[in-house]
Amino acid sequence: MKDFYVTIGLEVHCQLLTQAKMFCRCSTDYIGKEPNTLICPVCTGLPGALPVLNRRVLELAIRTALALRCEILPQVVFHRKNYFYPDLPKGYQISQYDFPIGVRGIVEFVSGGSKKRVRIKRVHVEEDAGKLIHEGPSLPWNSSGVDFNRCGIPLVEIVTEPDLRSPEEARDYLIMLRSIVRYIGASDGNMEEGSLRCDANVSVSRDVETLGTKVEVKNMNSFRSVFRALQYEIDRQKALLEKELPILQETRHWDETRDITVAARGKEEAEDYRYFPDPDLLPFSIEPKDLEEIAKTIPELPLERKERFMVEYELPEGEAGVLVQEKEVADFFEECLKEFHKPRMLCNWMLTEVLKNLNELEINITESKISPSNLAELLKLVDKREISGTIAKGILEEMFKTGGRVKEIIARKGISFITNERELEKIVRETIEKNPQSVADYLSGKEKALHFLIGQVMKVTRGQADPELAKNLLLKELNSGE
Ligand SMILES: [Zn+2]
Repeated sequence: MKDFYVTIGLEVHCQLLTQAKMFCRCSTDYIGKEPNTLICPVCTGLPGALPVLNRRVLELAIRTALALRCEILPQVVFHRKNYFYPDLPKGYQISQYDFPIGVRGIVEFVSGGSKKRVRIKRVHVEEDAGKLIHEGPSLPWNSSGVDFNRCGIPLVEIVTEPDLRSPEEARDYLIMLRSIVRYIGASDGNMEEGSLRCDANVSVSRDVETLGTKVEVKNMNSFRSVFRALQYEIDRQKALLEKELPILQETRHWDETRDITVAARGKEEAEDYRYFPDPDLLPFSIEPKDLEEIAKTIPELPLERKERFMVEYELPEGEAGVLVQEKEVADFFEECLKEFHKPRMLCNWMLTEVLKNLNELEINITESKISPSNLAELLKLVDKREISGTIAKGILEEMFKTGGRVKEIIARKGISFITNERELEKIVRETIEKNPQSVADYLSGKEKALHFLIGQVMKVTRGQADPELAKNLLLKELNSGE
């Protein structure tokens, strides 16, 4: 069987984190709001209304383009993209055409254990359209409604070159992109709520030199659905090629419930939109000093931070990668480290216990009741072997639920510290005396008997001993008796 060559390019729309819409003062906080309550003559395109650009949109878009290592074009030009759709009251969308904000960028990310890079073709801004509603309690039977609240919300569109080779790479690129837009505060990147939307262009070819027919896949609203839609589409195209059937250039929708892509419509070309410069918004230049100011606001980005964590804290790449994915988690880690300087141990606790508690409570780290210094306080006790890891996990859970301090929970729960090695030695000796059979078993080579003895020590101390210390003391005692 001949090889297949897969080519994927992604177009991502991110909602920019502004309070007001792109060209008017209406609020962007539309989720859960009564339909058509956040609108005005500008965002609904009433005759005579004039758009005024929200400065913040430009700032966030430039920040995005810079973080994606784009060249910033010196002029800002807005175009009208004309098409008819019931949720687009103006009959056109204000977008950018031949003069995007940024071009020729690069995103680096890790996929399948190796470093990949994808070229960014362009980064431009445009306004969002409204929403059609086909079902809901307020709708009369057999009718559809339109909600214009989303009209005019600012989006940044990020288009890659067709550099991705597999659904895994596409997913890993998206994860990195989301991480970057969150780091720079440009977007919350929430896919489920629609503030990050992804369309994919995918083609499969049997010849490495030529691209296959480009099919656009839309309507994917999670990382998982991007992955599965691409997987499905690649298999579908391979099957057609094998049967020597033609692949049509078209737009297909991902049908989440049926797990397939479905043909939607023929793909429009740019000329179908009759782009022309918006006569209401005159072109203007970006001042170099403004550009410099914006560049200064870009923080250390996830990939650089990961590399620094690997060098500075000697963390393995995989762990460092997870730790830096969300800026707030990485910030928490570094804050905690100031009081508890054992990066490896802290990293393990963050990636297992802390993330587990956050997932269970369905909150993010900034919403949690635990502070970096609370966690440091707890880990110091574990590190000094004043409490066991098991006990500490229970205390941490309590801290997440109630926001209590370590010492206070310990006092309230009546947890006694087994600080004294001698005390534990005594318990170990008693355990050995009480279990002669297990001791004999261990001495005749049965490893399992040792676990039983450790279990007995833990039982006597009600789980408060450090199991590692108990094991060492048992071994010392057992081997001295030989
Ligand atoms: Zn408005």
